[in-house]
Parts: sequence; C-alpha cells; structure tokens
Amino acid sequence: MLNGKKGVILGIANKRSIAWAVAQSAARAGAELVLTYQNERHEPTVRALADTLPGSPVLLPCDVDDEQQVKAFAEQAHEHAGKIDFLVHSLAFADPAELKKEFHRTSREGFRTALETSVHSFIALSNAVEPFLSDHGSLVTLSYIGAVRVIPNYKLMGVAKAALEATVRYLAYDLGARGIRANAVSAGPIRTVSATSIGDFHRILNHVEEMSPLRRNVEAAEVADVVTFLLSDYARAITGSVLYADGGYHTMGL
Ligand code: NAD
Repeated sequence: MLNGKKGVILGIANKRSIAWAVAQSAARAGAELVLTYQNERHEPTVRALADTLPGSPVLLPCDVDDEQQVKAFAEQAHEHAGKIDFLVHSLAFADPAELKKEFHRTSREGFRTALETSVHSFIALSNAVEPFLSDHGSLVTLSYIGAVRVIPNYKLMGVAKAALEATVRYLAYDLGARGIRANAVSAGPIRTVSATSIGDFHRILNHVEEMSPLRRNVEAAEVADVVTFLLSDYARAITGSVLYADGGYHTMGL
C-alpha cells in the first residue's frame, strides 16, 4: 500500500508505543521511513527498534516543545527523504498530577502544557514539513474517544483530544487546496507508557472488552494498519475525518 512512499513517524518511546506499531505496519507496506525520538533518554531504545526494520530508517531527534528542533527536524527529514509523502503524529503529554485532580481544578500551566505538546505540535509539525510535502501527502494523528465523551480520569486529555480533532478538520481544509489530507485515528485503549497516567486504566480495558461489539480490546498493530490505510492512496478521498479503531466501542449507547 505504501510502495515508493517516504514518510516520518513521531512518537516511538518503546516497543509498546502505537508509533512503533505504525512504523512496522508502514515498513511492511513498503514505505521508506524517517523516525524520531524525543530526547537522548529515548534514543538507544528507538535506535534498537529501528535497526530491526528493513533498510534501517534514519533517526532524528525531535522534542516538539522546542520550535527550533521542529524546524531542524523537518529540514533534515527533507534532506534524507526528498519529498515527504506522509507524517504520523503519535504523541501527547499532560502532567500526570493534573490528571489526578478533579477536572475543575485543572491549572492554567497544566492546561497550556497539555494543549501545546499534544495539539499545537501537530500544527507546528504540519507547518514545518508543508514545504517538503508531496502533493497528495497525508498527515495522521492519534486520538481517543475521550475527545467526544466523558471518560472519567481522562479529563484534561479529553479536552486536548477535542482540540486535536478540530485541528485535523482545519488542517484538512487549509492543506486540501494542495491535495494534502489530514485525519485522525481514534484508538481503543492500549496499555502503553502514556496510558499509565490514566487512573484505573485496567477498568477501561475491562469495560471495553465487555461492551464493545467485537467483545475485545484492540492491539496496537490493528490501530497501526488503519493508520497505514489513511497514509495510502486507498484513502485518497478521506480527509478531515476521525476513524475509530476501537472494535466498534464508539457505536454503543449502553
Ligand atoms: P507512548 O507513551 O508510547 O507514546 C507517547 C509518545 O509521546 C512518546 O514516544 C513520547 O516520547 C512522545 N512525546 C511526549 N512528549 C513529547 C515531546 N515534547 N516531544 C516529542 N515527543 C513527545 O504512548 P502511546 O499510547 O503510543 O501514545 C501515542 C498516541 O496515541 C498519543 O497521542 C496518545 O494520546 C494516543 N492514544 C493512545 C491510546 C492508548 O490507550 N494507549 C488510545 C488512544 C490514543
């Protein structure tokens, strides 16, 4: 599905990361990849994983909180890959202390951090790679149903994901004039490092297993294949959308 395409994937921390599943899926589909790591602490793990992929992808640092790094990353990705066909944004952050508070006690600083790192980063990255994107390029981010429904304990991240989904629609409109698409995949709950900040995460997993139409939780590899589809030309008519990869959980009313 991605033969001849080149793209960048941000958000690998370890082998459980959804971004790592996306890298494996995209590589299997034939893509040539540039991967990033947040900082030196993550570099050895990401490098070890990257080395297991065909063609050993290029690795670049990119802390999205640092505007200069975002710019430098885009330029270096362009140097390595030439035209960029896709970008996958699979990252988010909120101070775990903020997620422990009652929602109405969310601090200004905690709100700013969560929205900047988890949402503005997608805008900043899109802007930075835009000059290097091929026509018919594809941008994909990862969301969660907490954007549109109350998931107790998701709190501030739900607000961030709502903003992220709105961001997808506005990017789709702006960049659609150039044929570039922007979409989100709303994944079911998966046990990753980020998920450990969500209180009682095991209860969410148990609930989805019991209630979703497929009566099970989804795996990162399944979410990744939906991302790969959106990156591919098979999804050329889809933009501004949120596709659920959650075993159908979002369709349930009770
Ligand atoms: P993860 O912890 O493996 O990945 C989060 C990534 O964000 C890490 O690689 C981390 O390095 C990166 N990151 C955080 N701050 C950063 C910064 N300043 N600069 C650069 N990178 C930064 O967890 P994950 O579950 O794979 O999360 C990936 C995405 O999927 C997130 O957007 C998350 O909200 C979303 N998501 C996760 C689930 C789930 O249940 N795990 C469900 C739906 C959506």
